[in-house]
Amino acid sequence: MKLTENLHILEILEPNFFGTVLNHNVVFIENAYKNGLVMVDTSLPGNMDLISSFLKKIHYSINDIAYIIVSHYHPDHSGNVNAIKNISGAKVIAHENEEEALNNYMIFKLKYRDVKSVLNTNKKEFYDTVRRINNIKLDPIKIDIKIGREQNLGKLKIINSHGHTRGHISVLYNDILIAGDAINNTMHPMPPFRFFCYNYDEAVTSYHKLIRLKSRIIVPFHGEIFKREDVNNIY
Ligand SMILES: [Zn+2]
Ligand SMILES: [Zn+2]
Repeated sequence: MKLTENLHILEILEPNFFGTVLNHNVVFIENAYKNGLVMVDTSLPGNMDLISSFLKKIHYSINDIAYIIVSHYHPDHSGNVNAIKNISGAKVIAHENEEEALNNYMIFKLKYRDVKSVLNTNKKEFYDTVRRINNIKLDPIKIDIKIGREQNLGKLKIINSHGHTRGHISVLYNDILIAGDAINNTMHPMPPFRFFCYNYDEAVTSYHKLIRLKSRIIVPFHGEIFKREDVNNIY
């Protein structure tokens, strides 16, 4: 899907996510930083063929990916970073607070009762999903361009949106906000689920900050893309 000039979205589906299907909005932006193709988040390992065939449709290849922005360390975002880097030599951009987790893959410690009350999942679906996501093995990911304070990288503005993880970042490109997991729109626009947050209060603060930013369209990594004006007041 071509959202605006130079910005393309590949939607990848993750089946068997707590008894439902979770989508991943993988973003590609042409010529946004040093004339290179920028990818924002990479989906789970095993999706290289989907990425490759999507790029072919927009007249690119994996080889053309010059930068990968990793919003945070979770494997649905960082899963193909090393595979892409090995092919294209892409430079990895992430927040310095994610470094530790990108180097030592951390597992999710989830409790059935917390997830069940929000996602209405049964015990089998819950344990199957936790086992699946905690069995994903990723090699350490090296950050080439470390973000600390918010900064511009060419036409991209890197926004700190911590809380879901210690160093979660989002990206503003013109009037399009690529929110990562700092905004979840699987049901309606809202902060990430509490049980998936490093610091939920901080995640809620980041959510409000992002919603107030001057943007027109918001692309969450999970859920539907939406117009900012459609968010009826604040969560
Ligand atoms: Zn996440
Ligand atoms: Zn995610």
